[in-house]
Amino acid sequence: MSSTIIGGRPKGAVLNNSNRRPRPSQAEAETAVRTLIEWAGDDPDREGLVDTPNRVVRAYKEFFAGYYEDPVAMLATTFEETAHYDEMIVMRDIRLESHCEHHMVPILGKAHIGYLPSGRVVGISKLARVVEVFAKRMQIQETLTAQIADTIHQVLKPRGIGVIIEAAHQCMTTRGVRKPGVSMVTSRMLGLFRDDPTTRQEFLSNIGSPRNSIENAHFNPK
Ligand SMILES: [Zn+2]
Repeated sequence: MSSTIIGGRPKGAVLNNSNRRPRPSQAEAETAVRTLIEWAGDDPDREGLVDTPNRVVRAYKEFFAGYYEDPVAMLATTFEETAHYDEMIVMRDIRLESHCEHHMVPILGKAHIGYLPSGRVVGISKLARVVEVFAKRMQIQETLTAQIADTIHQVLKPRGIGVIIEAAHQCMTTRGVRKPGVSMVTSRMLGLFRDDPTTRQEFLSNIGSPRNSIENAHFNPK
């Protein structure tokens, strides 16, 4: 496959700092938060809110730290060559905290990653870091899922990879249609995970529930 992140990059994907506009200053960002407080109907000068713009801006720095890291470079410097291990590697229940790009409110859930190495493996903490770097950006779940799979595929060149994310979107649970308890499942299967039903089934068995919904999910073939 051709991957992907560079050529067929999903809309909205940003790999690193290049081609981005200059950032506003911290003071400008704090002024914007102050405006939102006033717009919401409160007094930004009252005691409890005086430091809020600064706190919000610092929180945003953490929430969106992923724009300043390049997951391809990060993975590329840490993989290990190993010709000996060629069974499926699965990491499940990776905690996922992101923000939806439509409302900038939390998307909370878990990611599951499986791949069939062909000579290259990475430590499981690195897989979790790839999830984190892409999650700490403004996202939609479909793009996030594809970016994680494509990046690992691009760097490790495995025989196959599968990424499944199940997450709840606060823009659905706390506003709008208000559907608490609803989670969304997205997946990206490449190589043998896409082409070989036995491999895909092994992956799904390894991660356990929610198998039925995953089996029926749309697999986003490239
Ligand atoms: Zn949203």
